[in-house]
Amino acid sequence: MLNVESKMILIDLDKFYEEKELVAPCDELKGMLEKAIRIVICRHCEDAGCVSSCPQDALKKDGEHLSRSNYLCTGCKTCILACPFGVNVDEIVEYKRKPLDIRSLDTIIKSCNFVMEGEFEETEDIVKLEDNIFVKAVKWKKQLGILNTPIEEKLNER
Ligand code: SF4
Ligand code: SF4
Repeated sequence: MLNVESKMILIDLDKFYEEKELVAPCDELKGMLEKAIRIVICRHCEDAGCVSSCPQDALKKDGEHLSRSNYLCTGCKTCILACPFGVNVDEIVEYKRKPLDIRSLDTIIKSCNFVMEGEFEETEDIVKLEDNIFVKAVKWKKQLGILNTPIEEKLNER
């Protein structure tokens, strides 16, 4: 977790999906990308193909929460093929990964065009992932036009 005194960053997932290519300094963001994708982009399918396809039993779904055990996952990528929505990417199923070091943030901000520094707060398209780390992505329900329909707005008012 980043120190509250440190920079506030925004990871633009839409931009990341457009390129899906990480330069070396951005490797440290893989854990955050996985967390963001599993929270914001994943549909949390009731009968999740990713979970049943995993030969290592590394994926666990608990309600709306999908997690992957780094100890069990071998990085075989079967879950990527099994997801009908293509939400998973190679970078999020790595067996080993470098933890995010706040001393690298300046380099990351300069090198990764999907990461920016600034003042951010939660909005319809921005989700707070951790202290000082925000993620921007158009939510899938909104993309499909099933969020903020007049009916949904009425339900939200109750
Ligand atoms: S990449 Fe990991 S989580 Fe995905 S199917 Fe293979 S072992 Fe399971
Ligand atoms: S199949 Fe895809 S969308 Fe469904 S829970 Fe798994 S990763 Fe999420």
